[in-house]
Amino acid sequence: MKFERIGLPSMKKVTRHNPCPICGKPDWCFTSTSTYTFEEGPDEDFDFLGCRRTTLDQVAGEDGNYYVFTKESKKDGMSIYEEVHQRARRFKRMGIDENIKVSSDYQVKTSKKRISVSDNNLAAVEKRDEVYRYFLELLQLEDEHRKGLYHEGWDLDQIEGSMFKSVPPNGYTISQLIKKKKSGAELTEYEMSSLNRKNLTRKKISEKLYLKFGDLTGVPGFYLKHSNYNNENYWTFTGGQGMIMPMFDIHGKIYGLRVRVDNTEKNKYKWFSSFYEKLDSENETEQYFKNVYANGSTQPLQISYRFPDVQTNFLVVTEGEKKQWIVVDNKGLACANIPGVSSFSTIIKDIDKLKEMGIKFIIIAYDADKSENTHVLTAELKLIKALLEAGFEIYIAGWDEKLGKGIDDVLLSGNEIQYEPLLDYLNSIEVEEL
Ligand SMILES: [Zn+2]
Repeated sequence: MKFERIGLPSMKKVTRHNPCPICGKPDWCFTSTSTYTFEEGPDEDFDFLGCRRTTLDQVAGEDGNYYVFTKESKKDGMSIYEEVHQRARRFKRMGIDENIKVSSDYQVKTSKKRISVSDNNLAAVEKRDEVYRYFLELLQLEDEHRKGLYHEGWDLDQIEGSMFKSVPPNGYTISQLIKKKKSGAELTEYEMSSLNRKNLTRKKISEKLYLKFGDLTGVPGFYLKHSNYNNENYWTFTGGQGMIMPMFDIHGKIYGLRVRVDNTEKNKYKWFSSFYEKLDSENETEQYFKNVYANGSTQPLQISYRFPDVQTNFLVVTEGEKKQWIVVDNKGLACANIPGVSSFSTIIKDIDKLKEMGIKFIIIAYDADKSENTHVLTAELKLIKALLEAGFEIYIAGWDEKLGKGIDDVLLSGNEIQYEPLLDYLNSIEVEEL
């Protein structure tokens, strides 16, 4: 089949003998080496890692090194990482000033055995669902986010129905803003809105959740913070300011939340999660890793589903929390939102349920400009095969790129999508030489 030849030319797949340094698994991830040429001194090779099982900004790898998120692969959206010392060295040689924290506890001691002491007691989905629902109820959608959706073409009912809310600033940010205001400095419009927000503080919101549900251990995003002021612990939550959006499992339970972080162009969408493992530097003989967020938890990769009120045979697969609402509300089709292409494979466990719900046709609809469709297909051949074998018919969505980048742009402007059968599509795509 000619589409098999499309791949990731400069990358090498991990193997059992050379497992992924980050997740430690023998498959699915990649390593790659790039040679850099500098005006002064010799050329140098730098290693990069594509881990498909990690979406964190910084991660303690299974090999004991610390890795920093570098970029998202243009090919298929997987996260590319770089070891923190190498990054510091590379940036120095490139003359780029970046404040990289290479603290002493980042030192790699390979003779030590790696032991993770982090408890990641992910709470049952029933618990997460009730906590997250009440959390979203307690949060307000701030005007700037409401305006943003309105300008994108959402109508007001849709905005109110979406359950989208705003994450308030953390206590530190608020205190800094108050200080700045008191000093007489002029606040930006965004800073003003952060101070004049409708939302309660993070601490206050978490307190209400604790009063209702008790212990929040294992609900990703929440953690126990120690107060030096009165030497007590209190519940709060992580994450930058931004718009927060629910993710639903196949049974309609909210299993997790995604945050679209404000004022950033890189890595805009993040999981609401309270998990970051750090090396415990005091242990001399073994590498003990601990989650810096007490009683926090990480968010596993999972697809989000939404179904319309009226039964449908069509499931649109796309990437984007906002798109998911537009596809269901404006088109009346079911929609699977894939948070990162690599999570597509988690659809496997839902195959029986999807069939039971009457889904017969799967429409893959990634953004037009990224040629994501092709990359999804090549990266997930086994998955596509499994879906075909399960009896689903697969179509690829297409539209004139002038109509917009994502399927939501096309639908919001009232235009139609074309559907091409998978086989026709495979025959039409251009083949890249390896
Ligand atoms: Zn990996």
